[in-house]
Amino acid sequence: MADTYDVVIIGGGPGGYNCAIRAGQLGLKTAIIEKRGVLGGTCLNVGCIPSKALLHASELFEAAKTNFEGLGIKTGKVDLDLKQMMAQKDEAVKGLTQGVEFLMKKNKVDYIKGFGKIAGKGKVEVDGADGKKQTLETKNIVIATGSEPASLPNIEIDEERVVTNTGAIALKDVPKKLILIGAGVIGLELGSVWSRLGSDVTVVEFLDRSLPGADAEVAKEAQRIFKKQGLDFRLGMKVTGVEKMKSKLKLFMEPAKGGDEEVLEADAVIVAVGRRPFTEGLGLEAVGGKTDKRGVIETTDHFKVADGVWAVGDCIHGPMLAHKAEDDGAAVAELIAGKAGHVDYNLVPSVVYTNPEIAWVGKTEDQLKEAGIEYKKGKFPFQANSRARTNHETLGFVKILADAKTDRILGAHMVGVGVGEMIHEICVAMEFGAASEDVARTCHAHPTLSEAVRQAAMGVEGWTMQM
Ligand SMILES: Cc1cc2nc3c(=O)[nH]c(=O)nc-3n(C[C@H](O)[C@H](O)[C@H](O)COP(=O)(O)OP(=O)(O)OC[C@H]3O[C@@H](n4cnc5c(N)ncnc54)[C@H](O)[C@@H]3O)c2cc1C
Repeated sequence: MADTYDVVIIGGGPGGYNCAIRAGQLGLKTAIIEKRGVLGGTCLNVGCIPSKALLHASELFEAAKTNFEGLGIKTGKVDLDLKQMMAQKDEAVKGLTQGVEFLMKKNKVDYIKGFGKIAGKGKVEVDGADGKKQTLETKNIVIATGSEPASLPNIEIDEERVVTNTGAIALKDVPKKLILIGAGVIGLELGSVWSRLGSDVTVVEFLDRSLPGADAEVAKEAQRIFKKQGLDFRLGMKVTGVEKMKSKLKLFMEPAKGGDEEVLEADAVIVAVGRRPFTEGLGLEAVGGKTDKRGVIETTDHFKVADGVWAVGDCIHGPMLAHKAEDDGAAVAELIAGKAGHVDYNLVPSVVYTNPEIAWVGKTEDQLKEAGIEYKKGKFPFQANSRARTNHETLGFVKILADAKTDRILGAHMVGVGVGEMIHEICVAMEFGAASEDVARTCHAHPTLSEAVRQAAMGVEGWTMQM
């Protein structure tokens, strides 16, 4: 027997590496197996981090071209150096993935490079990156194998011209004409990047709205803003295929409700139609684990797949978000150590890192209506917020929903510059079961964008003061 662990984690993304850190902190003998050759998973390598590096840089590029003069800043001719923009993104990824490796050492976690397969209760076989095979013995197995991009029939991904998120963060040139399939979070973020860098972007979406999951009013406002920024939306359209020509691509689509086929030409196509759990070759069946028809690993409410087998992150139910995976991972380590571990998915915030940002937590208006819950709402536009006006960044609003009888906050929905940070005030309030009045009566510094949250909370009881 080579090794006996308390916990062996398969997958080194946010779910896996945070589980490993917490397990290490709790004194559990822990190993983490990652097949990618580098820790950090989708998030650090091809997801959250590189996309944010490009969003940040492209936002500054756009601002330097269009907004700086109005602030009295002369920059001369602003030019794009795409190679350098990609290099600074790669630098951010490298630094952070190395940071995770350091955290494994710090918490005495064994990091094994290779493919992990469950061989039975308490047994994980590793097909090592160095060609060596070994079997690890362990009291607990944590599955944290994450997800992979979904695609559509008749679309052949080559990650050069027809790309998923992986290729979309590494295009070598700015495509003149870019088509995005999918108006979800990932699609709109990547579309914003390439639009700012000069692409003519068309977003094709099957549904008749963008950002499914977001509050409908917020999604509508965001789409209005993105349209003004130059993104063209073709909603309610079903893509039936993409044909590769010598230099161009042809995208075929038809109305989702039936109708005539249309053909669009493009230089690149980004397929951003969602993600699906990744469990290939995992050996789930060896411990009686099951997946549903979407490939999601079935667990109890507390992450259990079978006796001594747990699963976290994108490969189980709940929002496919890095911070949700992180919380799942920490909770499972605590459960294994005999502590309480729980994650309330209703309080997992969602953020779209476009400009302006979009953020929400809790229930949308449609969800409350559907559940028959009576609610009141307060809304405050950034147009009336002094800091937003000073910064010439007045797009969007904050909306707070509270129970009509108890005033307990049920949800918050925001679109505006910096709302991705501001949402956490509401997360904390909701975690403590706060009423909208608690936020409304909390002193907020002036002049800050967060004052819009306070004014929206005041609006729930109809006493917004600054409008
Ligand atoms: C473009 C893009 C942008 C995103 N932006 C954000 C964002 O801003 N904020 C946010 O919260 N989320 C974002 N996400 C989602 C986020 O990346 C995921 O929710 C998160 O990475 C899930 O973490 P995870 O640990 O469950 O899985 P993953 O990060 O997918 O990690 C799983 C790891 O397991 C490894 N693995 C799989 N099977 C095996 C095996 N058998 N043996 C060994 N290793 C294995 C994989 O190689 C992978 O590295 C984004 C995603 C994309 C694609």
